[in-house]
Amino acid sequence: MEKQKVWKNRRYGKTEEDMEKTEGMEKQKVWKKQKVWKKTEVKIDQSYGLYKRTIITNRIIACHGRDYIRVISLLDAGFQIKKVQNCKMTDISQYVMPNDTGLCLLDCTKAFDNLTDKEKLYAHYISQASWYGGLIVLVQTSPESPGIFLLLQKVFRGQTVEELKKAVTKDGSLTDHQFQAVMVYASAFYANMGNYKSFGDSKIIPNLPKEKFEALVMKSAACQKDASGMKALWDSVSERMFGLSEREKELGLGEKGTTSYFSANCDLDDAKIAQEFLTAKDLSPYNTRLFKTTEKGKTCYEVKLASAATGDGVIPGCQEGILGCHEFTPTLTSKACTFRVTRGDYSQLMSLVVDNLKKAQEYAANDLERNMLNDYVESFTSGSIPSHKSGSRHWIQNTGPIVETYIGFIESYRDPFGMRGEFEGFVAVVNKEMSTKFTQLVASAEEFLPLLPWPAAFEKDKFLRPDFTSLDVLTFGGSGIPAGINIPNYDDIRQSEGFKNVSLGNVIVSAYKDTKDKVNFLAEDDKELFVNLKTTTFEVQVGLHELLGHGSGKMFVKDKEGNLNFDVASVTYPETDKKIEKWYEHNETWDSKFTSFASSYEECRAECVGIYLCLSAKVLRIFGHTDDAADDIIYINWLNMARAGLLGLEFYSPETGAWRQAHMQARFVILRVLLEAGKGLVKIDYFTSDDGSEDMVLKLDRSKIPSVGKPAIGDFLRKLQVYKSTGDVEAGKALYEKYSEVHDREEPHFLTRRATVLARKQPRKMFVQHNTVVNGSTVDLKNYESTTAGLIQSFAERFPSTDIDDIVQGLWEQEKPHF
Ligand SMILES: [Zn+2]
Repeated sequence: MEKQKVWKNRRYGKTEEDMEKTEGMEKQKVWKKQKVWKKTEVKIDQSYGLYKRTIITNRIIACHGRDYIRVISLLDAGFQIKKVQNCKMTDISQYVMPNDTGLCLLDCTKAFDNLTDKEKLYAHYISQASWYGGLIVLVQTSPESPGIFLLLQKVFRGQTVEELKKAVTKDGSLTDHQFQAVMVYASAFYANMGNYKSFGDSKIIPNLPKEKFEALVMKSAACQKDASGMKALWDSVSERMFGLSEREKELGLGEKGTTSYFSANCDLDDAKIAQEFLTAKDLSPYNTRLFKTTEKGKTCYEVKLASAATGDGVIPGCQEGILGCHEFTPTLTSKACTFRVTRGDYSQLMSLVVDNLKKAQEYAANDLERNMLNDYVESFTSGSIPSHKSGSRHWIQNTGPIVETYIGFIESYRDPFGMRGEFEGFVAVVNKEMSTKFTQLVASAEEFLPLLPWPAAFEKDKFLRPDFTSLDVLTFGGSGIPAGINIPNYDDIRQSEGFKNVSLGNVIVSAYKDTKDKVNFLAEDDKELFVNLKTTTFEVQVGLHELLGHGSGKMFVKDKEGNLNFDVASVTYPETDKKIEKWYEHNETWDSKFTSFASSYEECRAECVGIYLCLSAKVLRIFGHTDDAADDIIYINWLNMARAGLLGLEFYSPETGAWRQAHMQARFVILRVLLEAGKGLVKIDYFTSDDGSEDMVLKLDRSKIPSVGKPAIGDFLRKLQVYKSTGDVEAGKALYEKYSEVHDREEPHFLTRRATVLARKQPRKMFVQHNTVVNGSTVDLKNYESTTAGLIQSFAERFPSTDIDDIVQGLWEQEKPHF
């Protein structure tokens, strides 16, 4: 090592600080030796130093099998690829997580603190069931995921992140940058419960050379304790961990990708054949996987049902004798094959789920919850989906619980055939504090509604509180956390008995939280206040948006009998004083008239109500903000709205001229209105930054919010309301389209600014979650830092014992022959 370094330094005249660069040289040597150079015919310009590192940022590299890492190293060393022939281009950035990927704690502290001990215990045990069940996702994602999980758990449980970092960076084995790449990889792996992205289904590989990752594993405390065990573990996962062959890039069936819902030898035909069999036997695919073997020339499919119980037995709600062998001739091949239905897939994990659900049952709030858990226990023990359906029926009837949950094999997005459910379990808690403020806001609605910029005739005769409950997620076990859910997925239950909408408040708020360095497009002196107040401000905006925004305004309607719900003789247009000429006929609705732009228009109306009413001192007092603090809330709410308008450009497609996200379009429209108000209210400065890339800064003059901003938004909001009230789709459309248009005809050239927004977009954040620990008759909530170290620590503490390792190891070994 020492000799090599000297050689490099002499040859290239580089210093120690250039270690990372010279590593590239090292790689080049190895690379040449393996003749990959010739094979891929990649020409690298070696006059390094003369050329700028142009390709590095977008990471377009030549890829040939696993040699992409070496190419990255060369690029990092300052090389440019001049010519690439006969080799596939792979944009590696799709498969690695950037080192500065943001993280945030999914904060449930306030909501959790408000629970009674009994509710806390109920939440705790269902959380435990969700976490154990969540490990099933490892087995459902890819053949290597259980192995990678074991590797990470052993490495990170063996010592603290700080100790590990010291051990591997002190002697130069890894650079700080490379160490951080391991941390980000581990975090992304945990957050997605496997090495494929929950949103997007593409593979995640570590963003550093394999040898470097290996060096970290070998220097870890875990390896000092069990050298041969860790070496064996590394050898059995590393190849697949870094693999990026065509089949490994995405989740998919057969040659199209990777999946572990099916054994590796299955393709689309096998999936269809199995479906025919399952339908014939009236067996739900939700909790199954399919493994194919050949026995004496005959195809044999094993349908594996997830359950704690193994071996023979009765499965409630399923055909008698369903377990065991069935001869079957599919129409697709007309060739007889054998189906063997077995149960006990992930048996030990399912047992842990069942044990914890039983404990939760002792703390259930009512009979609906008790019966629901009874059915889930029966389902997860026996492998019966009918029992899970029965549990879901109780769940639907249990409206407005303090602790909301759902658990089982739920979403089928990740089965390439779209039938098999991925395990997920969540516990969410009603945000009582938020709900209390909302209740007060509703109670004072009669006082606030007259503040809105339209005459009383345009307001409802009686204020109707719209449906809105905010739940904070305490635990989400599975591959990813949505912001809202609409379940159950069983179609027959949805049709005849209904479903529940669950809105997950802290997911939205957390995704919204920024650290100063992640806030783009704001002036330095705004950033701090913005970061500090953004979530508090968001609470005010959400309350006003949901309750007084969507809840306000009257629609003028003619009923079947021809009666109008307003006094046509006296009500006039506020701007012209002329009599009202338009309204909704009895068979017309808001959606049927305003169709494609109805939702964005309505979101825009609600957002405008939010920024307009937050100017009221009384409203802010309900949320606990007074005096100067209240002024700051107003400023940040308006600043946030204007900046969101800029960020919204990401969701506009110049190719089609269409907006892809209703709320973001609404915020862009509001930004346009604020800019149009002029008088220096909002300013967007754009410039070329030091690194040569385009940047911009949005400024809002806070002193002009009441004098310029308020009347501008008031006028606009009145128009939105009047067109909505009168069903005037022509005027509404003309107005909304005018402000939605993205063009370069005038300052600030939004079409051009869009490129800057895209270039400076922040990657999707990863969530750090709490742990809960029983403490006597109550439950403690554990917090973690919103960092990779915090996320990793939470998982090390979540599964502290090697018993879980043994279970995961066992599941992994069982699978190996099939992949
Ligand atoms: Zn809304």
